Amino acid sequence: MVRKIIYEAPERLYDRALGAYLGLAIGDALGATVEFMTPREIAHQFAREGGVHRQIIGGGWLKLEAGEVTDDTTMSLAIGEAILKSAHENRLFDTTFIADAFVTWWRSKPVDCGDTCRRGIVRYMRDGSLHGVQTEGDAGNGALMRNLPVIIAALGDGDTFERVSLAQARITHHHPLSDAAVIGIGHLARRILVGENPHIIQNYLTNWIAQWPKFSFQPYPGRASGYVVDTVQTVLHAYSIHRDFEEAVVAAVNRGEDADTTGALVGMLAGARCGAQALPSRWVRRLNRDIVRAITDQTSALLAIALTPSSRQDSP
Ligand code: MG
Ligand code: MG
Repeated sequence: MVRKIIYEAPERLYDRALGAYLGLAIGDALGATVEFMTPREIAHQFAREGGVHRQIIGGGWLKLEAGEVTDDTTMSLAIGEAILKSAHENRLFDTTFIADAFVTWWRSKPVDCGDTCRRGIVRYMRDGSLHGVQTEGDAGNGALMRNLPVIIAALGDGDTFERVSLAQARITHHHPLSDAAVIGIGHLARRILVGENPHIIQNYLTNWIAQWPKFSFQPYPGRASGYVVDTVQTVLHAYSIHRDFEEAVVAAVNRGEDADTTGALVGMLAGARCGAQALPSRWVRRLNRDIVRAITDQTSALLAIALTPSSRQDSP
């Protein structure tokens, strides 16, 4: 499937991958304004805009500049950089590069860092272990939110995608639900990126939910917290009922709670579906320029890894 797309329309694949990565940053930047708020508080704060938050204006508990992003995007960029470095040094997908990139990222004093991520990074710094023991408290969404660079770089090889995804995830999060979400949502994104038929994608999703009923999102249970089950339900619900990128992202972030992360993940899926060209230009223009540049550069370089002749080119 990937090979077919490359030969028939490589520019469409690039547009979808860039749409996913910019969509992730847009959802992060938009959602951060209302992170940890309740839907009622959001409706009250944005009463003059019809009770709906839909402009990238910064602020929020992190007091961001408009267009600034949070750990969801910057940890993704750290993974992307680590993959590129591993390729450069002929150790493609070596997990140590990713763990080292997390340390560099953490030392750069990011605007925020989740507790589970911090614990995992500190553990790696202390003893060099690439994953902790399975822990009940590790069922947060921190590994899920940052996996897009792995999805893009391993687009042509499902086995490599799963192996590298779990390796990066368990540096900080070691829990069966986190693992399931990272793999399940990742395969969904891979299918969207290669332009698979929407009915086949829907079948995939239905089967995945049958296998993991905990993530069932219809009827929507209504929580959007950092617990990976709440996050996945909110993301899949918003993505499935809104065909339009803007409406899908707005629906997710206005649920509040972990709004930057639900926004980022819906942005990733909906951005892959519509492509970069179709993203709302007022949002793309608002994003921090350095972030847009880093995302644009990484997208081409990560896709180049996926498309090298040595990579296996199987179907998703
Ligand atoms: Mg964040
Ligand atoms: Mg968050």
